[in-house]
Amino acid sequence: KMIVEIITTGTELLLGQIINTNAPYLAQKLNEIGFSVLYQTTVGDNRERMRNVMKTALSRADIVITSGGLGPTQGDITKEVTALVLDRPLFLHEPSVSRIQNYFAKRHMTMPDNNLRQAMMPKGAIVVDNERGTAPGVITEADNKIIINLPGPPHELNWMFENRIQAYLQERFGSQGVIISKVLRTYGIGESSLEEKIKDQILEQNNPTIALLAREGEIHIRLTAKAGNTEEANRLIGEVESKMMPAIAPYLFGVNDETLENAVGQILQSKKLTIALAESCTGGLATSRLTDVPGSSAYLMGSIVSYSNEIKNKFLDVSEQILASQGAVSAETATAMACGVRKRLGTHIGVGITGIAGPGGATADKPVGLVFIAVDGSRGPRYFQYNFTGQRKEIKNRTAKAALFHIRE
Ligand code: ATP
Ligand code: MG
Repeated sequence: KMIVEIITTGTELLLGQIINTNAPYLAQKLNEIGFSVLYQTTVGDNRERMRNVMKTALSRADIVITSGGLGPTQGDITKEVTALVLDRPLFLHEPSVSRIQNYFAKRHMTMPDNNLRQAMMPKGAIVVDNERGTAPGVITEADNKIIINLPGPPHELNWMFENRIQAYLQERFGSQGVIISKVLRTYGIGESSLEEKIKDQILEQNNPTIALLAREGEIHIRLTAKAGNTEEANRLIGEVESKMMPAIAPYLFGVNDETLENAVGQILQSKKLTIALAESCTGGLATSRLTDVPGSSAYLMGSIVSYSNEIKNKFLDVSEQILASQGAVSAETATAMACGVRKRLGTHIGVGITGIAGPGGATADKPVGLVFIAVDGSRGPRYFQYNFTGQRKEIKNRTAKAALFHIRE
């Protein structure tokens, strides 16, 4: 198995000014195609220290991948240090010169002389084109060792890795096998209850392995398979997935990166349904989540943030009698809000959300975290009661999430 070391460069990383997303991105991508990442290092824009880090990396890895420091400024030294460590002179790579000149010409800008530095390459290097920026990537091969220099900006690095480097590595070293993960995202069940439901698969697990992760009120089941190729890995994952499906189906809302709001959007869109919300304690948060999905205007008509009783009465037709006898935080009020907003905004579905986010506002029978969520649709209104714990912000977040979950039903 080929061993890779990732070196992320940039003093701003050491100062904690930006979050290092390139290292985990590269690690994940490399593992997926079967390369072992045994070390990750970060070094500032300093020649001596970068040289030491690269030398050390070459002593313990077959392939060294760097990110950052390919830009036109004096602080960008990664290629120079690479050339130094591999004992290669730098030369001016003519195709890169014209490519960079074109890049500027297309944008009606004149190229500063500094940019020529980006066309300096270690002798014998493979120059990798960059569709997303001016700095080409560089692959320098030397005596069983390879250094690959990638640009720092994540959208450039990601493009180059997925469109150029991955193919190069696979061609150069043959298939290393693959490791593929699939995440099944569930909501509405606790970690230990979910574990109990898929106990058989967990006890039998081998390939794929199964991991449960709690994330902001959701429980994620991660299945990770190793195999010779992608199809085989997906087949292994699919087998275990279908075994656990009957037990998890009521809680499953999406896979991998799919969010609850994505899932809701897809359902509403495919059924051609429209929705409106009446939000009290969440102050519009559930609606905001829905609008995180591009194209949500196809189903979200609007919402009323009805924080006061007066607005609940005046704009949602929650009767004064309900508000007085049951209180603003009650199943009856949530239901009336859902029905009211559905009627007033003329949608297929109406949602009512009311609760006590705290820290004040609690009474003996209505503690902080008490929440009612009602959904009114063609089958008539239904409500759900929650007793959330946590600080105000957490309660608001959990309430919004629960509301989104019930829209699916
Ligand atoms: P440029 O031509 O933009 O200077 P470069 O290849 O020289 O590109 P750097 O100067 O090191 O790269 O980084 C450019 C920008 O990319 C940084 O300001 C930062 O926003 C982002 N960046 C660099 N490294 C990382 C990293 N490891 N994780 C996340 N973002 C990064
Ligand atoms: Mg730079």
